[in-house]
Amino acid sequence: MSSEISAFLQAKWETEADERERAYVPLVRPYLPPLDKLLPLLTEIWACGRITNNGPLQQRLEAALQDRLGWRNVVATANGTLALQLACRSLDLDGEVIVPAFTFPATLQALMWNSLVPVLVDVEPDYLTIAPDAVEAAITPRTVAILAVHTFGQPADVLALQKVADRHSLALVYDAAPAAGVRVHNQPVTAFGDVSVVSFHATKVMHTVEGGAVTTPHESVANAVRRLRNFGLGGGREALALGTNAKLNELEAAVGLLVLDALDTEIANRAVAMNAYIEMLADIPGVRVLSAAADVQPNNAYAVVRLRTGVQARADEVHRRLQVARIDSRRYFNHCYQLADVLRRDETAVADAAAEDVLCLPLWGDIPLATLRRISDVIEEVMA
Ligand SMILES: *Cc1c(COP(=O)(O)O)cnc(C)c1O
Repeated sequence: MSSEISAFLQAKWETEADERERAYVPLVRPYLPPLDKLLPLLTEIWACGRITNNGPLQQRLEAALQDRLGWRNVVATANGTLALQLACRSLDLDGEVIVPAFTFPATLQALMWNSLVPVLVDVEPDYLTIAPDAVEAAITPRTVAILAVHTFGQPADVLALQKVADRHSLALVYDAAPAAGVRVHNQPVTAFGDVSVVSFHATKVMHTVEGGAVTTPHESVANAVRRLRNFGLGGGREALALGTNAKLNELEAAVGLLVLDALDTEIANRAVAMNAYIEMLADIPGVRVLSAAADVQPNNAYAVVRLRTGVQARADEVHRRLQVARIDSRRYFNHCYQLADVLRRDETAVADAAAEDVLCLPLWGDIPLATLRRISDVIEEVMA
């Protein structure tokens, strides 16, 4: 083949690849720090020779999360799920734990890895977070803790839940996985409860590729988690607790430091996209956008809509029509009902309805307005 022809084919192939790239809309594009900012950190790691095991960048990331987000006693981990398992483990619980029926499977699985029994209760209708009165109704002598979730980054009713926990002497754990950067009642959302767990997975607003953290007002809990993330080892050779390997490595910490630098900008950019969604979807019948309560500074982690025509849920249909248009969207959450050994003492009607009508739409910091328009056009067509 002449080089002219192969150059022509190469150019054509690239144009088509561009076109495919343009056409396909993912659910999220993780913020990726500029390589020229990453390189100095990698150079530092290479020079130091330390790539994991409580290295200097992991410690710098923990300190930065404390300084900039106001979190206390931060322990970085390999991911949010392990952070949740270790947080529960560190409290030394045995019995039933009350959880929302509308949540990601990891919330329940973390309990089950600790041989704790999840008791599902309903969520409240506005923000789909655990309903404090449903929590109180589900308490039995076997109840040892509440595991509430800041679902989609929307804070659970932290003040009401604290009252319930105090009244019944229960531990209060927060799965704050998607809620980095969220503030409520003028405090970081992780300021509430006995311990909070955050995920730094690539799909979260604050990420380290994979990663997570435990943050807690109790130094003893942080120390226990620090030990558990490193095989339960104390200072010496012997394992003092049933630990695991849940360490964040130095390369992940380097990425995390740069993503944290850009977190405010990413959240602000997502706010612009969220407002555009709200405007575009406002006049389409049957579409309700989940937006933050007045006393919340959100992180715009997800663009969540609820889709119904009368009583008929339309999330599945809209999801499929978006797929045809090569636009990714995600339905949440219905896996938890399929797990064995999960108790449900009462109806969870709000959670069940949400599992039918919730759809998350593509959202990231610099998502083009034209893409949002494409998405809202499809939704309008289906809902008409
Ligand atoms: C993302 C997420 C998790 C899991 O975090 P990983 O870091 O992916 O392990 C757990 N719970 C909730 C609510 C989440 O959104």
